[in-house]
Amino acid sequence: MRTRYLFFFVFTLLFWGQPAFAQQNKIVFLILDGIPAQDLERVATPNLDQIASQGGYSRAYTGGLAGGYSESPTISAVGYNTLLTGTWAHKHQVWGNGIKAPNYQYWTIFRYLREVRPDAKVAIFSTWQDNRTKLLGDNLPQTNFLRLNQSLDGLELDTLRYPHDSQSDYIHRIDQRVAEEAADYLRNQGPDLTWVYLQYTDDMGHRHGRSSELDAAIEKADAQVGLIWQAVQERQQKGEDWQLWITTDHGRKEPDGKGHGGQSDAEREIWISTNAKDLNARFYSGQAAMVDLLPSMIRFFNLVVSERQERELDGVPLIGPLSLSDLTLKERDMDQVLTWTPGIQSEPLSVYWSPTDHFREGDQDEYFLLGEVPSGAKQYVLPRELGNKPFFKVLVVGKYNSANTWRVSGKPQQKN
Ligand SMILES: [Zn+2]
Repeated sequence: MRTRYLFFFVFTLLFWGQPAFAQQNKIVFLILDGIPAQDLERVATPNLDQIASQGGYSRAYTGGLAGGYSESPTISAVGYNTLLTGTWAHKHQVWGNGIKAPNYQYWTIFRYLREVRPDAKVAIFSTWQDNRTKLLGDNLPQTNFLRLNQSLDGLELDTLRYPHDSQSDYIHRIDQRVAEEAADYLRNQGPDLTWVYLQYTDDMGHRHGRSSELDAAIEKADAQVGLIWQAVQERQQKGEDWQLWITTDHGRKEPDGKGHGGQSDAEREIWISTNAKDLNARFYSGQAAMVDLLPSMIRFFNLVVSERQERELDGVPLIGPLSLSDLTLKERDMDQVLTWTPGIQSEPLSVYWSPTDHFREGDQDEYFLLGEVPSGAKQYVLPRELGNKPFFKVLVVGKYNSANTWRVSGKPQQKN
């Protein structure tokens, strides 16, 4: 017992009063491509289960507001960029796997971290090179020349070492190398932020749908997750606090579970497995969104985000307290009515309104305070002369988080 007290005392001296304590917080997020929740839940995934046993598992959604202004195709690259930026496609402007013209005004989690902590060590291990070159915007002027400390990708372009075969075995072999190198790097270098992307499950889903082939691919992906989980546990034993977020980028179309891209419930449904502590009711609601992952990471890193950027985040954190979530604008009679799900504690919320979207060009929007409302009221009716405008943004700000929603009527958004 005496020894234990001594250890506690030494530990306290080492860390007491160090403001940089959150720098011991590290994040790895993994995207396992195109695994429907019901298939994941049917197949034995001991590694994902073990991770979730320390945090949680829940179904979630992607695709934005179905039929609404933020509707986003349930397509791979669209989903990745939604996760990376915490915004839907109407903002980040990635509408397909061609990734023609991302709007880099919407920063990725990599950039949020780097701009605050230039010394942060960041890495990507991916079976698709575009994730680094186009989505993260590696070394582009538009991303302030974001450089990664380590990357492994592009093996899918190396047809000598990975000759393409009709059964996509080469993709599995690339995934394996990606996972092994990611695990080595995590173990030896302890990077602050790492993205691991594995593709094989998507190939099997497209080819075979709901099938024993897909099940086997899910088991293989779980084993690859296990390599990374093992490395993370070794780092945790050194006193670092590691958070893992594992998700998929879309579901698949019923009844065969092959295609995706549309807005059916089955295509929109994803899942999240994490070892994160302090998961909130939003996480377990089954209605957590892909855009919630970025605010969760920001909160875990304790990163400062400018007010201008905070106003554009389409998600809310899945850890810690919330002031509100599920902010929605609905027409009722002649009025535009805001509704939301309040946090656990009642508190005053401030409602703001802006008539412009200059943010997407890098400029400021001016917000006007409309009023305050207790969170428990769960609704706010906009003044009719403002609610009638064809375009505006609404921002609701609470003690713990904010949320925004837009009204977009008339001409649909430009999609490239
Ligand atoms: Zn996909």
